[in-house]
Amino acid sequence: MTLIDVAIIGGGASGTTTAFHLASKSKKVCILEKNIFSPEKICGGGMSAAVQNWFPFKLLPIVHEVITNVEFSWCNTDKVVAELSGSSPFWIVKREKLDSFLLDQALNSGCNLLTTFNVVDVKKKSNVWHITALDGRQIESRAVVIADGSQSPWPKTFNLGPNQQKFASTFSGRIKRRGNLGNETARFEFGLVKNGFAWAFPLNNEVNIGMGTFLDNNNSLPVNEILKSFLPDLGFDPSEVIGHEKKLRIWNGHCKLNGEGILLVGDAASLCDPFLAEGLRPALMSGFEAAKSLIYWLDGEVNCLDAYTKTMQINWGNSMAWGKRISQVFYRFPKVGYQLGVKRPTAPKRIAQILSGEMSYEDIAKRVIKRLLFQN
Ligand SMILES: Cc1cc2nc3c(=O)[nH]c(=O)nc-3n(C[C@H](O)[C@H](O)[C@H](O)COP(=O)(O)OP(=O)(O)OC[C@H]3O[C@@H](n4cnc5c(N)ncnc54)[C@H](O)[C@@H]3O)c2cc1C
Repeated sequence: MTLIDVAIIGGGASGTTTAFHLASKSKKVCILEKNIFSPEKICGGGMSAAVQNWFPFKLLPIVHEVITNVEFSWCNTDKVVAELSGSSPFWIVKREKLDSFLLDQALNSGCNLLTTFNVVDVKKKSNVWHITALDGRQIESRAVVIADGSQSPWPKTFNLGPNQQKFASTFSGRIKRRGNLGNETARFEFGLVKNGFAWAFPLNNEVNIGMGTFLDNNNSLPVNEILKSFLPDLGFDPSEVIGHEKKLRIWNGHCKLNGEGILLVGDAASLCDPFLAEGLRPALMSGFEAAKSLIYWLDGEVNCLDAYTKTMQINWGNSMAWGKRISQVFYRFPKVGYQLGVKRPTAPKRIAQILSGEMSYEDIAKRVIKRLLFQN
């Protein structure tokens, strides 16, 4: 069996990004993916245009809609609209298209792909990783990247990731017409979902509908009840949406994302925003940063993988620490949060700036603290 440089478990957004960057630097990489790629992936597909920074090719051709307005509501009333400036757009993509586009880029750069490779065992012997599939196939590699999403068992096995994993309960589905959702408009509804929110994102002639509840690992979503209240306001009948529920692993504290020759990326690394469920930007960011560290490590710089954990903490975790605090206060007292937070004249713009990647929760928190100090 030939020894490859890096085996990547999972061919989603984070795995394909890692694979592209490694393969484009001539590293021997293989993506191990348990599925043959699915026609529709469970995801809202809302994504900051800032992700373009991590790729040398244009992502715009696979963007379905560029959002210029973000509309917020409380039980379908009390609406506020924020305009996004041209400098900070927010994109809506179909996840299956994004993932297969990134996969193609990785394959074109020389990466290999094994599908129906359901990883059931990961072991390290004499500095070589042995990765085994359910059907008995085996791959040997110098390093392994864990990119198999929210249900990944490997962070716990290797004592990585947060001490306690936290999950949001989510639902997402599509409707094959547009309803009355405005052009280039994304809608966020905060009053209908306990400890969370519902959304409607436009996709040309379709709409993605979703919801998430964030505070309790065991919270279940009364999906049908929420759809019944939310969809008529958008001009839809609740029976029109076909969707699925999923437990989404969210950020829950600073933690180690690497060991010797092993890195966690994307949802497996618990990077998803605990307030707005933004997981694509950190998935792509972590893929880019993981590849950067691995390239040095494969070339012999042995301490480089620790730099990955550190960089993700600075560039993402510090903001998420504030996102978690905001989430805990806002979703416990959402009515007050909506009135005092979202309805503040500057708030919709700030939320839009978070979604677009122009501002972090940390920036917002520092502004609020400064304002409070100044007032006192
Ligand atoms: C309902 C919902 C809506 C969302 N909406 C948004 C949004 O609008 N914007 C946003 O930014 N984020 C959103 N997210 C979050 C976003 O989808 C995730 O953060 C993102 O998918 C993470 O990508 P990933 O590559 O880490 O994991 P995934 O996309 O889950 O990819 C993991 C891959 O690993 C494979 N795999 C799993 N197990 C194995 C195994 N044993 N062996 C081999 N392969 C395996 C899977 O088949 C899959 O292809 C949403 C999430 C949900 C659930």
